[in-house]
Amino acid sequence: MKVRYLRVSLTDRCNFRCKYCMPNGVKEFIPHEEILKYEEIVEVVKAFTVLGVDSVRFTGGEPLVRRKVEEVVRGVSELPFIKDVSLTTNGFFLKEKAKSLKEAGLKRVNVSLDTLNPEKFSYITGTDPSSFYRVVEGIEEALSVGLSPVKVNTVLIKGFNDSEIGDFIKFSELYGVEVRFIELMPVGGKFFSHENFIPISKVKDYIRENFGELIPTTSYKKGPAKSFLVEGTKAKVGFIPSVSEHFCDSCNRVRLTSDGKLRLCLMSDRELDLKVLLRSASYSFEKLVSVLKEALILKRGINGISALESLGCSRKMFTIGG
Ligand code: SAM
Ligand code: SF4
Repeated sequence: MKVRYLRVSLTDRCNFRCKYCMPNGVKEFIPHEEILKYEEIVEVVKAFTVLGVDSVRFTGGEPLVRRKVEEVVRGVSELPFIKDVSLTTNGFFLKEKAKSLKEAGLKRVNVSLDTLNPEKFSYITGTDPSSFYRVVEGIEEALSVGLSPVKVNTVLIKGFNDSEIGDFIKFSELYGVEVRFIELMPVGGKFFSHENFIPISKVKDYIRENFGELIPTTSYKKGPAKSFLVEGTKAKVGFIPSVSEHFCDSCNRVRLTSDGKLRLCLMSDRELDLKVLLRSASYSFEKLVSVLKEALILKRGINGISALESLGCSRKMFTIGG
């Protein structure tokens, strides 16, 4: 599958401490000088566009905690060949940032929201319950400034939010946003266990039995998420069966970590240090393109490993960006 999509982590820092991503114990973050500068990120994206990448998603850690994030959004949006610039956020700073991000060229946004209950939200994110309302206001603001589509990412955890699937369907109808149910992945920390894992197949069965048939939409073929309308409702839902289904054959993405490592597969620790190249005395744009070209050839060899089989991922999710 041709690589067209680059996920760029802007930082490993975050104002939340989601239990499955960044447990409270995390104290050490990548030193500032090791983090790629915005010019360096734009340079890497530009080199990738030569090789066919036309979509970029900013992530983190929390991308909106990085200062003047609009600058890198603008820099990437203005590159020739870039068609789509998106961002995944916890939504906390979205209310104040949505407008300037849209003006900088951001097209769409995914907001992570695992529960519609403020107390449970506080528990899972390690923040004050009032943060829940900020996130919802952030979603409203994103919609009102015209970021489109706005999607909600919901990681399903048995015994925590599996009773809220119906509420999320209503939320989707109310706000006109797609809710994407994501399987909990065994990445990094110890939160994952087979007891709190829910396969997407069960979620689909539940929706079919209690709401209606799932009707595939046109965006069906884009990446691992699959979008559906729920028959008889106005709700749009998506599913990311990252653990239970093999999606390597359709994987069209690579990842750039905030410290400049190119990661060819989320679940494989094979990384290429682009920062060293970017900061070397002999750096040239042509050399960067050539290194990336080789890396994309290597990616073809890595694909074919499923998440559970490989388990070659020692980094925690916040250092990669999901
Ligand atoms: N801070 C931003 C946010 O939360 O949206 C962006 C970074 S976060 C690492 C990106 C996505 O990864 C979020 O939707 C989050 O829910 C998801 N994620 C983190 N850890 C995960 C895990 N163990 N399993 C499944 N999804 C996970
Ligand atoms: Fe932060 Fe996102 Fe990880 Fe939650 S999932 S701790 S918001 S990086």
